[in-house]
Amino acid sequence: MIKRLLASFLLLVLLTACVLTGPEPASDKQNEWWREAVFYEIFVRSFYDTDDDGIGDFNGITQKLDYLQDLGITAIWLMPIQPSPSYHGYDVLNYYNVNPEYGTVDDFKHLLDEAHQRDIRIIIDLVINHTSSQHPFFIEANNNPSSHFREWYIWSDTDLGNNWHPGNQGYYYGLFCDCMPDLNYRNPEVTAQFKEVTRYWIDEIGVDGFRLDAAKHLIEEGDVTENTQATHDWYRDYYTFYKSVDPGAYTVGEVFGAGAFIATTYENQLDQIFNFELANGMMNSVNGGSKTGIHSAWKFTLAEIDDGDYATFLTNHDQDRVMSVLNGNQDKAKLAAFLLLTLPGTPFIYYGEEVGMQGQKPDEDIRLPMQWNANENSGFSTGNPWRAPHSQYLDINVAAQENDPDSLLNHYRKLIQLRKELSILRTGELSLLETGNSGVYGVLRTEGDEHILALANLTDAPISEYALSLEESMFLKGDITPRALFGSARATPVNIKNGKFTGYKPLDELPPYQAYLFQFK
Ligand code: CA
Repeated sequence: MIKRLLASFLLLVLLTACVLTGPEPASDKQNEWWREAVFYEIFVRSFYDTDDDGIGDFNGITQKLDYLQDLGITAIWLMPIQPSPSYHGYDVLNYYNVNPEYGTVDDFKHLLDEAHQRDIRIIIDLVINHTSSQHPFFIEANNNPSSHFREWYIWSDTDLGNNWHPGNQGYYYGLFCDCMPDLNYRNPEVTAQFKEVTRYWIDEIGVDGFRLDAAKHLIEEGDVTENTQATHDWYRDYYTFYKSVDPGAYTVGEVFGAGAFIATTYENQLDQIFNFELANGMMNSVNGGSKTGIHSAWKFTLAEIDDGDYATFLTNHDQDRVMSVLNGNQDKAKLAAFLLLTLPGTPFIYYGEEVGMQGQKPDEDIRLPMQWNANENSGFSTGNPWRAPHSQYLDINVAAQENDPDSLLNHYRKLIQLRKELSILRTGELSLLETGNSGVYGVLRTEGDEHILALANLTDAPISEYALSLEESMFLKGDITPRALFGSARATPVNIKNGKFTGYKPLDELPPYQAYLFQFK
């Protein structure tokens, strides 16, 4: 009650302030919930099946919300949920409905309600670059060249080569395949339609935002098929639109292969884009036992963006799974999780990563049924699963790791919990440390006068030849005794002169693959 009174009072103060100073701009920081979030990416088809048809469904995710809440994640990205002729859904048949294999619109709304009650937000994949070739718009455009839908797609009288596909009376452009004809965003009708789709999902269904598939490919300019000026202009207008529908709506763009500098070019167009460079850096460092990959990725990133406003991940549904890349090495998987969850950015965890599911291409095999337990079909379904689970599920599953304090699952839980407790891990600044040994990773996170040292031995051997130094200045001085927040150890005090330190060894020896967080206060 007191809280409510206080809240009312604060609201009154805020409203008064607004009247005096005018409304806050759309980019108001208080709406940027994603800066605090830990996301979990789900392929609905493979998560949990509740009606025994071998296909995961919305009700399956609803049933597993307790698991997700225990894991600690605060937001979910659902891969495409709209009707589609493909198993993956990245070619949409109807933008105003859900895939009946996954359930009904009411099932989906129920999932949203249940998630929101747990303070878990849900964003969905929005595939706007192209439709399915079986979408009624395209069928009409193809069958009837005088239809106004003809101009919703991109046509040529002649075959212009790569990415052009024979249709009725001409060729159409489809960057990914003939099954996915590109939409023509130079046509205002198309833009208006997809603004309406956006409004529908936010306003009438209640999603919290979108992951924009193939975001950089929206509008081609001649031979240039990515990150064009026309694409940027389109997103600038789109951003204004969706923020007007809901200032708290979030978009994250798939801008594959782009460096950090590209993220800056999408400012005020998309809320965030995925930092693929950093993902590669983390995976390379962990796999190669050398800090070089991640340090150089950070140097590139920090040169362009110093506020951590991008999405981070290890691997996603288009890449071989973390544990396969790391050849099943659990210590390395733990290090990868440590890096992801203690660094700036908004982390995304691909389902099953937290228990070490393996999977290598083809795509179907990196999107296999979730490994819940050692029962038939990995506890995913009592029916005939759409694709058999990975053969390792008998040993590698949630149930086997649930109560083991040393499991990968509990490692993820601990790190996510720490990230939630310590804002410095989410939004603190980052300084790279010299470590005097390529096998030793070290960074300092800073927020106000608080500092956290993240330290790890990336190799399979103990390391005693190393020394940390900080070139940048911090506010602390004198002998500080670091407090261990993660990886129990008693650290040697650090002597800080002029806000800097050199030749510092928190521990005489760093055990193989061991990671630590030390708090300087
Ligand atoms: Ca089902």
